[in-house]
Amino acid sequence: MYTPYPENMMESIKKVEATREKRMSTEPRRLTADEKDALLKEFHPDYNPEAFAEIKVGANKGQKAPLELTKMLHSTSRIANEKIDITKIDYDVDVLVIGGGGAGSSCAIEAHNAGANVMIVTKLRIGDANTMMAEGGIQAADKENDSPVQHYLDCFGGGHFAARPELVKRLVMEAPDAIKWLNELGVMFDKDTDGRMVTTHGGGTSRKRMHACKDYSGAEIMRTLRDEVLNRQIPVVEFTSAVEIIKDEKGQAAGAILLNMETGDYSVARAKTVVIATGGAGRMHYQGFPTSNHYGATADGLVLGYRAGVPLLYQDSIQYHPTGVAHPVQIRGALVTEKVRSVGAQLVNAEGEAYIHPLETRDVNASGVIRECREGRGVEAPGGQKGVWLDTPMIELLGGEGTIEKREFLLCSVCI
Ligand SMILES: Cc1cc2nc3c(=O)[nH]c(=O)nc-3n(C[C@H](O)[C@H](O)[C@H](O)COP(=O)(O)OP(=O)(O)OC[C@H]3O[C@@H](n4cnc5c(N)ncnc54)[C@H](O)[C@@H]3O)c2cc1C
Repeated sequence: MYTPYPENMMESIKKVEATREKRMSTEPRRLTADEKDALLKEFHPDYNPEAFAEIKVGANKGQKAPLELTKMLHSTSRIANEKIDITKIDYDVDVLVIGGGGAGSSCAIEAHNAGANVMIVTKLRIGDANTMMAEGGIQAADKENDSPVQHYLDCFGGGHFAARPELVKRLVMEAPDAIKWLNELGVMFDKDTDGRMVTTHGGGTSRKRMHACKDYSGAEIMRTLRDEVLNRQIPVVEFTSAVEIIKDEKGQAAGAILLNMETGDYSVARAKTVVIATGGAGRMHYQGFPTSNHYGATADGLVLGYRAGVPLLYQDSIQYHPTGVAHPVQIRGALVTEKVRSVGAQLVNAEGEAYIHPLETRDVNASGVIRECREGRGVEAPGGQKGVWLDTPMIELLGGEGTIEKREFLLCSVCI
């Protein structure tokens, strides 16, 4: 049922409207590096000591992880008391890909290209994955005014110099080829009338390098990858979870124990190569935060790999997206893409103040939202959820009538 805005929200809307004209001609200033650090340390959930515990077992022993993940890493195997005969092989392949999202499907296609006998096993259906939900787009430095070096600087700086340089290098160097690969497979990226890719800014970018497919970038990418997997007749075992990695006598991965989620039966997959592509952990709801993640994102791969002896990287950090819906409650947690901010929408507190630049990096903007709410400048929505305004009317005031329709955005109001 539609519930109109309560009085407190209406009063705040008036303040937002009253400051809009001034805000249109004044862009909020960028924070200095020191200001960002201070904001993150005080308000980013990664810095909340009570939300973390020490890992007591395995390769990351002695390091910290979110309480929810630590509990999983400490748990005993669900097959500890099962009698599974691993000499009875149900599936025998060269490459076993665990996870049917964008990463798993791409990997399966490339393994197939290389002539391998490949199989995907996935917890839900192929494409029931976070990849399907991505909105804003993919960054790649493939325009004349841009370069992988520039992308590297943005990315490494945006990560506060904490990322592994070799991983960032690989990401920025291979991104243009990844876009080309997807384009040639049939992904319908946004293009100008002359066929050139349209690119926009993302948070923390110094160049417009975001490639999108309207507001459905992930859905379009997943559609294409799924078609490709199915057209090549790569076997996909659906509604089946990998629950444990099998290792050979040398301690190398040699397959996985699979659980059919519908029948509860276990099966054994043998493989020369095992790829874990099970995506993220949003559905663990670390620190009670809502999530935009799909239901399969429960850190399975982290636990599978860890139990097999693989160290985790950045297990003590998770990305909090600054703009998800706080009101109305029915769609709480749904993502509002960054692209909305890249074309003019501002983050505005209950007093009508654009308290931060909308294109600071996600960690900084998420911390800003939390600060405004904790310090009493947030808007309280029915049900008690606090958030700030994402002032979307700015988009058409700045870009002209029809901008939203042209860009096909999903728009929402209060976010956290
Ligand atoms: C709402 C939203 C918007 C986003 N927007 C963007 C964006 O604009 N740009 C961007 O770059 N990124 C974006 N992201 C992030 C991006 O979508 C992900 O980083 C990326 O899609 C991850 O791909 P993946 O294949 O690793 O994981 P996924 O796409 O999540 O696929 C993982 C698959 O593994 C399966 N699985 C899980 N556990 C098991 C198991 N035990 N056994 C078998 N299968 C298992 C899952 O069911 C799923 O099918 C967004 C994410 C969300 C949720």
